[in-house]
Amino acid sequence: MAGVDTFRLNFSHGTHDDHAAVFRHIRALEAEVGRPIGILQDLQGPKIRIGKLAGDRFDVQAGDRLTFVLGMDEGGPDAIPLPHPEIFEAVLPGQNLLIDDGRVRVEVTGCDRERIEAVVLVGGTLSNRKGVNLPGTLLDMSPLTKKDRVDLAFGLELGVDWVALSFVQKPSDIIEARGLIGDKAGLIAKIEKPQALETIEDIVRLSDGIMVARGDMGVELPQEDVPGRQKELVRLCRRLVKPVIIATQMLDSMVAAPTPTRAEASDVATAIYDGADAVMLSAESASGKYPIEAVAMMDRIITKTEQHKLYRSIVSAAEPDIEMTASHAVAGAAADIADQLHAAAIVAFTARGTTAARIARRRPEVPILAVTPDARASRQMCLLWGAHSVQSPDIHSYEEMVEHAQQQVLTEGFAKDRDLIVVVAGVPFGTAGSTNNLRVLRVNA
Ligand code: PEP
Repeated sequence: MAGVDTFRLNFSHGTHDDHAAVFRHIRALEAEVGRPIGILQDLQGPKIRIGKLAGDRFDVQAGDRLTFVLGMDEGGPDAIPLPHPEIFEAVLPGQNLLIDDGRVRVEVTGCDRERIEAVVLVGGTLSNRKGVNLPGTLLDMSPLTKKDRVDLAFGLELGVDWVALSFVQKPSDIIEARGLIGDKAGLIAKIEKPQALETIEDIVRLSDGIMVARGDMGVELPQEDVPGRQKELVRLCRRLVKPVIIATQMLDSMVAAPTPTRAEASDVATAIYDGADAVMLSAESASGKYPIEAVAMMDRIITKTEQHKLYRSIVSAAEPDIEMTASHAVAGAAADIADQLHAAAIVAFTARGTTAARIARRRPEVPILAVTPDARASRQMCLLWGAHSVQSPDIHSYEEMVEHAQQQVLTEGFAKDRDLIVVVAGVPFGTAGSTNNLRVLRVNA
């Protein structure tokens, strides 16, 4: 097995039938391997596109004057359809529109509610329905289009574990999506707009995790800003105990070749040294020629990086100051004690995964066995750094906890008779977030 923990269903592509078939396939595989597997629904979001062009495409050159118009089905060089009224409301002279992932760049010279006049700064080819990015403009639009709402209802009905929200601009976007999702799935904010960075701490606090969506981020921000932003976002998520996924172009050349470039291998390793919880493949596994090789390669880079002699000192040095609540202190102490005693495992009894996340944040050297009665929590924890999750029946007493911890480490092969383990739980059992109990015990098989 090459080693995927969580699969992304990308709703920018494919039909509901396609996604349902993949979903069922993953769940069948999960039953076969007997391990939880996470499934993340990635909503397309309000991707802005120009409309249809007569003749399908035309070239523009620096200095050309262009007009974008609102109410047209088809256009051409004199009038390019742009069917998004929010842009005409918000855009100002001097701001830039980036077309086709920034290949063509134009500067707005004048605008009203139905027309935008612009001059081409960087020329290229404009073709049908190419994407448009507006890096400097806060658009008054919902993060969920009509299509997203239909897709979301479909995904929740299927039973996805995570929903990723594209083009998040502000904290209220998360609140709006949460209103529709409730507690049926975890909510991941895709960070790709510069506007989101202005209120990032609130966005992360309101979300259950984030994705550093470097594809669109690299169009909306200067490329040279993306690596630093990645580091800031990973550090923030670690401080706020939220999982963070690094996405896009990680092993891009493996779309067409069986091995990555040295720079790509280094990029994956950098994400791991930064302290990311997860690294993601896109086209490499979705449509590339070497999907299995790409997953296996990523797995090897992750493993090698975490085994490297500098890994520990780098991730420890990046450990952020944490708020000293009882639950954080107990989780941190569990990680420290387990490391000091060279324990065989840390067993975290967790209702929603919070206890496991608090321990994982310390990046202990000892494996974390996260035990939960909740099937969704066990699947969501697949995204967490270092957590091996298992679903088990509810426990009701301290004695049951001790008994269960010993059973689980033996069944999952994490410890043997007489090994030390560290057990962490929230008492009363089943109360999410109440990490308050720590016990060191010797396994008695
Ligand atoms: C991205 O932009 O990097 C991203 C992950 O989003 P999408 O795959 O929807 O482009």
